[in-house]
Amino acid sequence: MSNIIDGKAVSAQVKQRIKEETAKLKEQGIDIGLAVVIVGDDPASKVYVRNKKKACEEVGFNSYEYALPAETTEQELLDLVNKLNADDKVNGILVQLPLPKHLDDKVIINNILPEKDVDAFHPVNVGKIMIGDYNFLPCTPAGVMELIASTGTEIQGKECVVIGRSNIVGKPMAMLLLHKSGTVTICHSKTKNLKEVASRADILVAAVGKPKIITADYIKEGAVVIDVGMDRDENGKLCGDVDFENCKDKAGFITPVPGGVGPMTIAMLMQNTLTAAKVKNGLMDNTVEQEVDTKERTVFNKLFLHT
Ligand code: NAP
Repeated sequence: MSNIIDGKAVSAQVKQRIKEETAKLKEQGIDIGLAVVIVGDDPASKVYVRNKKKACEEVGFNSYEYALPAETTEQELLDLVNKLNADDKVNGILVQLPLPKHLDDKVIINNILPEKDVDAFHPVNVGKIMIGDYNFLPCTPAGVMELIASTGTEIQGKECVVIGRSNIVGKPMAMLLLHKSGTVTICHSKTKNLKEVASRADILVAAVGKPKIITADYIKEGAVVIDVGMDRDENGKLCGDVDFENCKDKAGFITPVPGGVGPMTIAMLMQNTLTAAKVKNGLMDNTVEQEVDTKERTVFNKLFLHT
């Protein structure tokens, strides 16, 4: 019987930590603000934005929501981004993706100031993650790292397999595991023998977007299995990339969907916003030194616990 990783509980701990720190900053006259921009009426995006707003309230941030119509032009959106870049009350800017088809995600993201890019999607922040010299960790992979840490599993020297190579999940995920000295393999739709590769993993992260494609024969006995997928099964019910019922007895630790990675993503967004406010107010260096060789959770200690 595996241990089920409770993403809600871990995210509540992270948010509590942020709340306490935010209250202390408030005493020093520092208010923290997150601007969330949504364009159009995508129902899933609306839910994400609502949850982000709720999380801001929980930790004591000001949230500024900008809901723009689907026909918003690129220039109008850029004007808003520039306005938020210049707004001292705004520490973090998040433009909810996907944008309507006529808007180019890249153009918009590239115009967010890197120091306010709390999603860590700007090329400057992506590059910093690559060289291990970062402030912001991309929210979902950062959340996964917290979940792995919560199991007490040491990453160093472990076989880590990431399935999926997207810019927002798979690639940064692999990089964070590599920074922690895991031996990392990245799989994708062209990978041959996925089952064989995946079942070598001590730590398996699935970020594919295909309901329940990972069954027990893809996992090693006792592995840590993290399911990033947010999919719908044949009945329209929310599920992950991992067939939870089929895998739960074989895995050592496993995340459920919902209640695993999802809540962590928002908690990490709050963490990045706090970090942005601290950097702006000179309470934190604007880079985080990478220490890959120590056993302790150095990067996360610095970023999340004591910064
Ligand atoms: P994506 O951009 O569509 O990337 C999916 C990746 O999976 C691609 O690299 C693709 O390979 C690979 N892939 C597709 N079919 C495969 C197969 N049969 N075998 C092996 N690899 C395969 O998706 P994403 O944005 O990374 O998101 C992945 C999942 O995570 C989705 O379900 C999404 O909803 C979820 N998600 C959850 C959160 C959260 O907070 N919980 C956050 C973000 C995303 P190619 O590159 O070769 O096409």
